[in-house]
Amino acid sequence: MGLETHVRVKSNTKMFCSCQNALELAPEPNINVCPVCMGFPGMLPTVSAGVIDLAVRASHAMRCTVQETSIFDRKSYFYPDLPMGYQITQLYEPIAMGGEVRALVENEIKTFRIHHMHIENDAGKLVHAGWKTLCDYNRAGSPLMEIVTEPDFRSKADVLGYLEELQKLMRWCGASDADMEKWQLRCDVNISVRLRGESGFRNRVELKNINSFSSIGRAIDVEFVRQIDIYEAGGTIDQETRGWSDERGVSTPMRSKEDAMDYRYFPDPDLPPLRLTREFIDERKIDELPMDRRLKYSSEYKLIEDDARILSGDHITSDFYEELVSITKDPKKSCSYITTILFAIFEAQDTKMGLADIKWETREIARVIELVNSDELSSTNSKIVIEKLVFEWGKADEWVDSLALRQSNDLGALETIADAVIAESPNQLAEYKSGKVNLFGFFVGQCMKKSAGQGNPKIFTEILKKKLS
Ligand SMILES: [Zn+2]
Repeated sequence: MGLETHVRVKSNTKMFCSCQNALELAPEPNINVCPVCMGFPGMLPTVSAGVIDLAVRASHAMRCTVQETSIFDRKSYFYPDLPMGYQITQLYEPIAMGGEVRALVENEIKTFRIHHMHIENDAGKLVHAGWKTLCDYNRAGSPLMEIVTEPDFRSKADVLGYLEELQKLMRWCGASDADMEKWQLRCDVNISVRLRGESGFRNRVELKNINSFSSIGRAIDVEFVRQIDIYEAGGTIDQETRGWSDERGVSTPMRSKEDAMDYRYFPDPDLPPLRLTREFIDERKIDELPMDRRLKYSSEYKLIEDDARILSGDHITSDFYEELVSITKDPKKSCSYITTILFAIFEAQDTKMGLADIKWETREIARVIELVNSDELSSTNSKIVIEKLVFEWGKADEWVDSLALRQSNDLGALETIADAVIAESPNQLAEYKSGKVNLFGFFVGQCMKKSAGQGNPKIFTEILKKKLS
């Protein structure tokens, strides 16, 4: 299998005009339109710098080579959702060539090669209402990146692993939210079957219009069986495009090679070649990708696979974690303070708070971990301090003191308290000595009470073990 994935660019404007790039459904149809994206005669397109900026970042995220010169071509066809009568795309000289995406597939890292990525503008949307068809051009002229892979996929798991990683990369570099439900990522699958050991590829079928991870999986399963059945019955597969119907679970022919359209591609005379400087390209490079961090977390930091995945999933979480570790030098505890304590606090709130809202407080969260590590704060009480920091801000040390949570590790002082507790409890002492060993907890509890919760329970335990033996 090989994939062609369309990703909507998260730029502010459309690709060749200053209309708003409506990534969400606009409140009304045909409000984000202008003479340029409506293809009025004489209107001239201008390339949006914001789109190019994000496309270059996305190219780097896929380790592609960004071309200093790329060219826009016209792809002509007639359809009511295409007001210009042609789509502006890049056929001969795309913005990025080569590249690869590494993905974790069934616990194995696989590398899928990218053939190229080009940028193009989107069409509008047709709304079918009874016997009428209505045109909504809010999306017409919005920027798309088309990412074309080599035929490197051998299983459904490969495809889904790649798409999940691609989605992560697009979010990581900020080029797109790549939300499939909002049609920000859609995928065509080219699929062919062959006998094990056979070289070369047989005719392929292109499956179009698949818009969720689960339907991609189903469409592949169904098409795989369909092709094998045809070959086993002595038939042949025609190179064709088929549309996937998720409701019916079948694909139906859309067009074959014979009636393929002649798009009359030619360089757009209204747009000069796009020339990017070396500096513009290099400034947008990305050093560490989510997969690099994920591998670092599992091999170097020894985190479990699930934690490594969660902490490398997006920039905000990962950067927060990296900063925390750089202060505490304690990767494991830094991980658990994010994944168990902070996430639990956010989840308990309806406010949709997240790490982004407390980013400035990384140093104070790190201080809490340091206090726990130096036994000045119990891990139970550390949750109280974290909650205070999240909702009321301030300094970790100040909260620890104002809430009287600082643990006393002063051996002499704690010993005096233990002695007093033992002296005040002659009955319990006698019972303990006669074999009621579960009274040990009573003594620890009394010591904690007497120290107003500030004695270190670990030290009290040690002291009492000696004194009661
Ligand atoms: Zn416009």
